[in-house]
Amino acid sequence: MFKNDKQYSTSIDFDFDAKHIWHPYTSMTHALPTFGVVAAQGTQLTLEDGRTLIDGTSSWWACVHGYGHPYILKAMEQQLHQLSHVMFGGITHAPAIDLSKKLINMTSESLTKVFLADSGSIAVEVALKMALQYWQGRQQNQKQHILTVKNGYHGDTFAAMSVCDPEGGMHSMFGDSVTPQLFAPAPQTLFGEPFISDDLTPIRQIIEQQHHTIAAMIIEPIMQGAGGMRFYSADYLAGLRALCDEFNILLILDEIATGFGRTGKLFAYEHANIEADILCLGKALTGGYISLAATLCSDEVAQGISDSPAGVFMHGPTFMGNPLACAAANASLDLINENQWQAQVRAIEAQLYTELSEAIHLPEVKDVRILGAVGVLEMTSRLDTAQLQQDFVDLGVWIRPFSNFIYLMPAYTITSSELTQLTNAMKKVAANISLYSPHNTLISHG
Ligand SMILES: *Cc1c(COP(=O)(O)O)cnc(C)c1O
Repeated sequence: MFKNDKQYSTSIDFDFDAKHIWHPYTSMTHALPTFGVVAAQGTQLTLEDGRTLIDGTSSWWACVHGYGHPYILKAMEQQLHQLSHVMFGGITHAPAIDLSKKLINMTSESLTKVFLADSGSIAVEVALKMALQYWQGRQQNQKQHILTVKNGYHGDTFAAMSVCDPEGGMHSMFGDSVTPQLFAPAPQTLFGEPFISDDLTPIRQIIEQQHHTIAAMIIEPIMQGAGGMRFYSADYLAGLRALCDEFNILLILDEIATGFGRTGKLFAYEHANIEADILCLGKALTGGYISLAATLCSDEVAQGISDSPAGVFMHGPTFMGNPLACAAANASLDLINENQWQAQVRAIEAQLYTELSEAIHLPEVKDVRILGAVGVLEMTSRLDTAQLQQDFVDLGVWIRPFSNFIYLMPAYTITSSELTQLTNAMKKVAANISLYSPHNTLISHG
């Protein structure tokens, strides 16, 4: 797809990078290997040495329409020249208004208010603050705890960390600085399987005992992403909504990974026919072109916040509502609204079933999971991310395992032959996995 007719500068100073620049979840004294990317087009990354890789991760699940999409580029170019950024305090602009209209229209009916933040973690912080301020406005100041399930992932800032999986996450590292929250076991009923009748019992017990101190429940709908790549039952999610209603607890859905079609529905909560009180969006919101996130809430939540002693919502980042990011999101959502993603995701899902299911017979593969445009091999032991990313690059693909998981979350626009190359590479690497010594003890979410 990518025509190598341009001369890119190949002067990537890897030595400087290793010595001075942090990469996600890495050490500054034992740098992990990196690959220099000079360009990306469609579903291909071009390395500084001229090799191209088929991207199986859509840049951490965000770049759903592929790289260099002319429609998004044009929208961003126009916006860049017209108004790249302006403060949002006391000022507004059409890109933010258009985007908020679109988000309100696309999401469930009760969500009517939009907060535009700059990253997913901040969208989660905003959601948690909204919930706490809401209960202040309802004269229930004792409602300060957040309830969640194990195996979750909601971001790396402090409040977001506090609701990440207590073992796989970072609680132990930061001790008392991380607010203690309430954890129920992760949902046990898998997506599409008959509901295990006592699956909600442990969380019901926690709620029955402590609901007067619980402000909100936060959960990733249907797919637990970075905390375990698991797909759980829509009945569980529906049951959770009912419990929150019964005990006056706000339901925060974190759709940062699942939003915009990834699980086969526009939003994963649609699998359960429920609505959130507060909804977090990010990652694919801009099609993966620039950072932006959004937190939506209901009229009721907004009213509660107005009734709180502060009377206003206490958050306002410098780059709130950045016009360039909003323009990218508006263009990306136009592409989503054209609705090709449904057929694309369905085709990817079918092909993943055909090509990945057989991997279950490989000795080191514990489980194969597929939903929408997500394919996961859960391996029997922790993987050596640095070694495996090198092996995948040698096979001409970009797949980055973490923890026990080798997964694909490609752009929806991936061609069937590219997808076959990705699944072949996965099976090949998974088949030879016993050759590696999984010694990587670094925390590695990505
Ligand atoms: C990635 C992710 C976040 C954090 O988003 P950032 O933009 O990395 O801060 C939060 N929640 C979920 C479910 C995510 O997948």
